[in-house]
Amino acid sequence: MTTLIEPILRVEGLTCRFGGLIAVNNVDISIPQGEIRALIGPNGAGKSTTLNLITGIYRPDKGKVSMAGQSLVGLQPSKIARAGVARTFQTIRLWKQMTLLENVMVGHQCRTETSLFDVLLRTKKASSDEDRTRAEALKVLELVGLADRATWTAGSLSYGQQRRLEIARALATLPRVLLLDEPAAGMNPQEVNDLVRQVLAIRDSGVTVVLIEHNMPLVMRIADRITVLSFGKKIAEGEPKEIRENPEVIAAYLGRPDDDAAS
Ligand code: ADP
Ligand code: MG
Repeated sequence: MTTLIEPILRVEGLTCRFGGLIAVNNVDISIPQGEIRALIGPNGAGKSTTLNLITGIYRPDKGKVSMAGQSLVGLQPSKIARAGVARTFQTIRLWKQMTLLENVMVGHQCRTETSLFDVLLRTKKASSDEDRTRAEALKVLELVGLADRATWTAGSLSYGQQRRLEIARALATLPRVLLLDEPAAGMNPQEVNDLVRQVLAIRDSGVTVVLIEHNMPLVMRIADRITVLSFGKKIAEGEPKEIRENPEVIAAYLGRPDDDAAS
């Protein structure tokens, strides 16, 4: 897909070194608004590092990251979140003793002037924002199909539901771009189906989705386009059917028989 409009998310020449290792090597990715883009590649290819560079957890050694034309390089992760980029992590990071609603409200508070301290201790300042925050939080719980459990503790959810709660928390920051790092990891087939519906609903609500995922049937089913990394380099990009037949992609996976990515 070519477009004359500025892509919602663009990285150019993105490079990140860890000592002698080039984890991300001169990568260009351009994602139009409204797309579901999968980022795939064998373990160690540089996928999570790419997300960490986009979200400001690491600073690139070289290259540009921009959202809707605004440069994100050098901004604190919280600023990048405010600019409209939200993410989930490869491993679950939830407050297990807190309710679903509280977990999601913490996500939303990056949109208000209220601090996490205010939210948790329910200060006066917080109560003025709280009704709006609560309504927003319920809306995102609805979107991920967990609204009926809003008052449960996060720790009481199944694994798949916890992963969906993490997505809800990311959505509560009202992102324009949502980055998901292996959201289906460890999910059973039913949970994967729920996830698929959820990701499609998120896209339909206007949010651009970037998805790192090893579950190839899932990727083939929902991605509009796929970007393939191997040893830090972009080796292919295209629609699912082109990628499936791309000899370089096949070789990248087959060359690493121990890798779970080929499954
Ligand atoms: P992927 O998510 O594609 O599996 P990563 O982006 O996590 O790969 O890692 C890419 C490469 O960078 C790997 O070789 C990994 O060991 C290395 N790496 C990632 N993060 C760090 C770090 N903080 N320090 C040193 N090396 C790292
Ligand atoms: Mg990773």
